[in-house]
Amino acid sequence: MSVRDLTILGCASQQPTRMRNHGGYLIRWNGEGLLFDPGEGTQRQFIYANIAPPCVTRIFISHFHGDHCLGLGSMLMRLNLDKVQHPIHCYYPASGKVYFDRLRYSSIYHEVIKVIEHPVSRPGLVEDGAFRIEAEFLSHGGIDNIGWRITEPNTRKFDKQKLVSLGVEGPSVRLLEKDGKLKIGDKLITLDEVSQIRKGDVLTVAIDTVPCPEIKKLARGAKLFLCESTYLDKHKDLARDHNHMTAKQAAEIAKEAGVSQRSYRV
Ligand SMILES: [Zn+2]
Ligand SMILES: [Zn+2]
Repeated sequence: MSVRDLTILGCASQQPTRMRNHGGYLIRWNGEGLLFDPGEGTQRQFIYANIAPPCVTRIFISHFHGDHCLGLGSMLMRLNLDKVQHPIHCYYPASGKVYFDRLRYSSIYHEVIKVIEHPVSRPGLVEDGAFRIEAEFLSHGGIDNIGWRITEPNTRKFDKQKLVSLGVEGPSVRLLEKDGKLKIGDKLITLDEVSQIRKGDVLTVAIDTVPCPEIKKLARGAKLFLCESTYLDKHKDLARDHNHMTAKQAAEIAKEAGVSQRSYRV
């Protein structure tokens, strides 16, 4: 089974501190590396985390405040230096195209990597491939800020004991999966009697927003909900005034949405 984990590369807000870098969140999942909001210094945080940057296959920018995107240029430059062969998909609010372009070409280098841009201009389905990617526009003081709902495809899980008892082995399993049925002697075996569908897990990422209905939509039934919470409950007025949320609010959303694992930025 491939690695499936979340690495917090940084969790400071606008200013990095001695102990905490600007934001940056890496999810390794099904052989891919999904990097969210690479703030300044993200490239170096990979070294501290002992993770090789070329694992990154997709970069998501929620919005173009500096702490969420200043590491984009250096990450692309690094992937370029490492001559990664796979394309790098980049998802970002379409209204921030000018900032994306500036960051991508903020220094002189000979670009050899393939960057595929996905500027997002409306809520809903962004793409449905190796992952189903859906977007919602969140509420962060009138600027475009996107929350993501990412779902892996459903997979089929075989009941090994049943397979053995029915005499289905080796290449016959693949054949059964391909055709949906298999004849052994005079017995017809159907795919459904020896396997069941495992529903793909859902990852939700919502960063820099006040609580809003869109987050609940994104987080519904998620396996992992990565959510900002820049303030504690005692500072909830400050959170509202600065278009952020509190740890308590993030927890309440997770609970209401039926999330199974939660990770908060405090
Ligand atoms: Zn921020
Ligand atoms: Zn922000």
